[in-house]
Amino acid sequence: MDIPRIFNITKSAHRIHNPFTPEKFATLGTALRLQSGAHVLDLGSGSGEMLCTWARDHGISGTGIDMSPLFTEQAKRRAEELGVADHLTFIHNDAAGYVADEKVDVAACVGATWIGGGIAGTIELLKQSLRSGGILLIGEPFWRQLPPTEEVAKGCLAHAIADFLLLPDLLASFGHLGCDVVEMVLANQDGWDRYEAAKWLTMRRWLAANPDDELAPEVRAQLTAEPVRYATYTREYLGWGVFALMPR
Ligand code: SAH
Repeated sequence: MDIPRIFNITKSAHRIHNPFTPEKFATLGTALRLQSGAHVLDLGSGSGEMLCTWARDHGISGTGIDMSPLFTEQAKRRAEELGVADHLTFIHNDAAGYVADEKVDVAACVGATWIGGGIAGTIELLKQSLRSGGILLIGEPFWRQLPPTEEVAKGCLAHAIADFLLLPDLLASFGHLGCDVVEMVLANQDGWDRYEAAKWLTMRRWLAANPDDELAPEVRAQLTAEPVRYATYTREYLGWGVFALMPR
């Protein structure tokens, strides 16, 4: 079981697979007032940077589930490197439908809400693992400014303008789903640059090492087009944030 190989190639050097920087995850960990010993569940945990740094900085324990064997392996290595492997479990699996055996203090899905079929479904899924009084974390894009045309939305790699909301509407939507928004940390354009631009060097080096790979033409095309596409569309129109919610 794996995610499409192109993502394992373009994001192989990423520790964080979204527009958050290490500083933003640190800000979020502090904002949540995490207690030592708190248990955090993370669906779509990627290379594990959130859980690993929070285990190091706040003494949390945690479980991460991710469908990419490469990212899961990287998460385990990172936990060893930071000396927190005893407190964290990284599972390679499909996180769809995953419910923890014991209720957790924080249940997160940061940049992978398709796992629950969208925001509403992911909130419902996470709630099944959450203790009473616990916090849900949803990481999700929003429009910084509404794309003037559907073509611009597609330039942001969205299917349609309707894929995302403006920030006030996204915050309101959490209320409509029965949740209080109790904290939020937003990415900025520097964070987007770290996420997107880091793929370019990775792609360039991968191409040099794998010129005859069947994906080489696709990676070459992406490397050629991505800087201008990103600067024209995503960087200007798309925001991203992690929203902390408590069910009402
Ligand atoms: N939360 C991480 C990763 C976000 S990127 C971070 O912030 O760095 C989205 C992640 O979801 C990728 O690591 C991808 O491998 C994973 N993923 C995609 N579909 C999945 C599924 N059905 N179950 C579990 N993980 C999935």
